Amino acid sequence: AVEIIGMHKWYNDFNVLKDINLKVMRGERIVICGPSGSGKSTMIRCINRLEEHQKGSIVVDGIELTSDLANDRRRIYEVRREVGMVFQHFNLFPHLTILQNCTLAPISTRKMPRKAAEELAMHFLERVRIPEQAHKYPGQLSGGQQQRVAIARALCMKPRVMLFDEPTSALDPEMVKEVLETMVGLAEEGMTMLCVTHEMGFARKVANRVIFMDKGQIVEQNTPDEFFDNPQNERTKIFLSQII
Ligand code: ATP
Ligand code: MG
Repeated sequence: AVEIIGMHKWYNDFNVLKDINLKVMRGERIVICGPSGSGKSTMIRCINRLEEHQKGSIVVDGIELTSDLANDRRRIYEVRREVGMVFQHFNLFPHLTILQNCTLAPISTRKMPRKAAEELAMHFLERVRIPEQAHKYPGQLSGGQQQRVAIARALCMKPRVMLFDEPTSALDPEMVKEVLETMVGLAEEGMTMLCVTHEMGFARKVANRVIFMDKGQIVEQNTPDEFFDNPQNERTKIFLSQII
């Protein structure tokens, strides 16, 4: 579903991502972890071209993103249709209702008729178990509910891949569970997922592969059991000893 080959990214002269190689097959559930500043967010933001890489290539469902932005506008647009993203801060539009948040992109970019978009939105709001909030505004919802709306909103675009960047790290502890349960449900339905998260219970339960990043590189990847119980790299060991 996603293939990253020899990808580098620089912020000015800072080489934030160094020779990233990652192949994600359809239906895989990948958890990405690593210290703060290691490049996790930057890497997943490159996958839907919220960030631009300067070397190597990224292929999403057969659509190649090169480092040459000028020739890529259509492809960027195509890739963004295939990739849903959920951020740490929910990024809902505060002046739109929950339903409007969910129908905006399908109506404007997928050219879906309003009624069909609303039906689809209600379907996903039911799936994340908050259909009764559809006519409220984001500010009237709890953090956990807002994050579930953000997930429903992404699903309304019928993405083939979902990217999550620390979706629970801004939530109060009692709300983490409801969001993780939503994500577990998605995984069980076979969604291809790349999740930056330090929720190790989630990683063990859901991930088929855990990737550890440090200083802009993928330094270790393994099945969750091997990764957590038998880490190979010194930096992984230090990291795990600090978080568990
Ligand atoms: P965290 O766990 O804190 O979210 P991260 O692994 O997601 O960290 P990134 O946000 O990808 O890390 O940042 C990687 C590095 O790139 C950091 O050193 C950061 O300071 C730097 N960086 C991020 N965004 C920019 C930017 N727009 N301009 C310059 N440097 C940046
Ligand atoms: Mg980050």
